[in-house]
Amino acid sequence: MHHRNDFSFANNSDYRHYAMTTMTHEYTHIVQAANLFTKNEEDRPDGDRRRIGWGPICFSEGTAVYYAEFIQRKLRQNGTPVENAPNVDSKGGSLRNKMREFMEWDIVPYLDSCPNFNIWDVNYSTRETCSPYRLGAWGVAYLLDKVNDQDAFWKTLWPNIDEMGWDGAFEEAFGITFEAFNQEFLEFLELPIEEQLEIIPDI
Ligand SMILES: [Zn+2]
Repeated sequence: MHHRNDFSFANNSDYRHYAMTTMTHEYTHIVQAANLFTKNEEDRPDGDRRRIGWGPICFSEGTAVYYAEFIQRKLRQNGTPVENAPNVDSKGGSLRNKMREFMEWDIVPYLDSCPNFNIWDVNYSTRETCSPYRLGAWGVAYLLDKVNDQDAFWKTLWPNIDEMGWDGAFEEAFGITFEAFNQEFLEFLELPIEEQLEIIPDI
């Protein structure tokens, strides 16, 4: 959601290397949405109005961006042929390489403009500076590494939200309050890139 990909993904298209990434991105949104049963909406800290339990945009887009990159590499590693895979036109490479690009190109240059942020403040209104897509992807990577389970969002967090609420399910999945994570993540962003990349799976 929130993408305007009005170009072709055909094999002769300049955008062909985005085909798999867009599919796995939107697929991730569908899995999150399918795990949320309520139709009731709420006003949120980011000023948006959405279904109760959808959670911060930083995590909905962060999971979509992270899993979009993770899934296609995992499939290839498992021997599943992936058309327009991350290595097409040398646009992707390893997951670590991709996450390094996000950090060095899309996060670090803008960090001064979003100091000490609360995750709720990183949303669609800040997409040109403090990107919920890129910061979110790294926040997701941080949490998945913390529990040593790359599937924790879709296997643990999302299925628990209906019963436990977003905050409760977050604590259950990652063993940390949302506020504590926010603080830890800000500290993580201060680390050297090589140290940050250690948490990224070698795929
Ligand atoms: Zn999205």
